[in-house]
Amino acid sequence: MSTKRLEADVVILGAGFGGSLAASALSRQGLDVLLLDCERSRTNPLEAEKIEPDQAALLRDLGLLDERVPAAPPIGMVRNYDGSGIQDFDTVEQYGISWHETVLRLRDVAARGSRVETASVRWIRPDPVRPRVGLDDDREISARLVVVATGGHGGLPDGLSLSRVVDNSLRSLTYGFDIGGLSSDFTGFNYFLGKNPDGVDFLTTFRVGDRVRAHVFTQQRPGDRVVSEATNSMDGALTSWFPGLDAHLGPVSVSSPITVVNSTYRRTRDAGAADGVVIIGEEFQTVSPTTGDGLTHLLTDVKLLCERYVPGWLAGPHSKVRAFYGDPEKLAVGRTALDHWCYYRDRQTWDRVPLYIRAMRKARRA
Ligand SMILES: Cc1cc2nc3c(=O)[nH]c(=O)nc-3n(C[C@H](O)[C@H](O)[C@H](O)COP(=O)(O)OP(=O)(O)OC[C@H]3O[C@@H](n4cnc5c(N)ncnc54)[C@H](O)[C@@H]3O)c2cc1C
Repeated sequence: MSTKRLEADVVILGAGFGGSLAASALSRQGLDVLLLDCERSRTNPLEAEKIEPDQAALLRDLGLLDERVPAAPPIGMVRNYDGSGIQDFDTVEQYGISWHETVLRLRDVAARGSRVETASVRWIRPDPVRPRVGLDDDREISARLVVVATGGHGGLPDGLSLSRVVDNSLRSLTYGFDIGGLSSDFTGFNYFLGKNPDGVDFLTTFRVGDRVRAHVFTQQRPGDRVVSEATNSMDGALTSWFPGLDAHLGPVSVSSPITVVNSTYRRTRDAGAADGVVIIGEEFQTVSPTTGDGLTHLLTDVKLLCERYVPGWLAGPHSKVRAFYGDPEKLAVGRTALDHWCYYRDRQTWDRVPLYIRAMRKARRA
């Protein structure tokens, strides 16, 4: 089969949350953008399902907050309980979303200004002037910039000989499911735990349209016996992990299949060496779902890349991607996400946690 050659100003690999946002932002600058994803629709339904205030602000800056699905009003009052009788109330701007539907909507929005195609990337050849990408259907794309937004679920495509820092002590195992039995005026409730033998960090419950979603964040490992026990009987696990839960929520029960997602910390080392190719979001650095920093990290990458760097890179002959990775704002967000992940790992060995939790929440509100 002869190789078919395509051209674009920017080719974006991965039409997930980050790739789709970047395609919209860059095509609005008049660039010819080709957005590729290996799947027509993502099957893993468990990712971010809550947009935090700082993330809402970043999405609004990109002109895309109204594209969330459902486009429901803010969650409203969220009660926070730390297990020791102290309660406080958040009324900050937070939205519950269906991650899957929102990504599909963001893809549709991207398609208004970019070419969107289904294809899997086989290899990448970095080059400061004309990087190239090879697809599994034998097509080859030559662009002025390649953006890799493939989410970190597999290995990097061939040709990107970059190494990664991996820290297996930083892990997060999340359970996601619907809960039924709550009254129609329920808005949101978080139950934070301290150190405990099952390594459970907290439960968050919030409304996504007419459903109530729950995520339980833990430090468990996929092979742990507690994971199979909890997956088989989440109602029992909730009662045992969160004493008195029914006093706060009433008699509730799990009303959907349970999805379990496991993450480990990885960060790409010296990504700037692959000039003409820029790696963003989870593919560049995994962020613990427990901390809720994933979209902040991703949206900061998209905003900085599209607004601060790409216009200058594409105005000249070379892309010089190294400057993006050294951006102080990007470094600070990446460091904060890592610090928060370390905190959740370390606190399972501490005796008192609620003060730190409240400090983190206050910092986020500020
Ligand atoms: C359980 C869970 C809960 C979370 N909760 C929160 C939260 O409350 N708040 C928060 O801020 N963050 C949260 N996150 C993190 C957040 O979901 C991620 O940071 C974000 O979705 C990452 O977006 P991305 O664009 O980097 O990757 P993705 O959205 O995963 O997109 C990657 C895309 O690349 C495609 N792809 C992969 N390989 C190839 C290839 N070779 N060729 C072509 N396409 C390819 C995939 O099909 C996919 O569409 C959570 C994550 C999880 C797992």
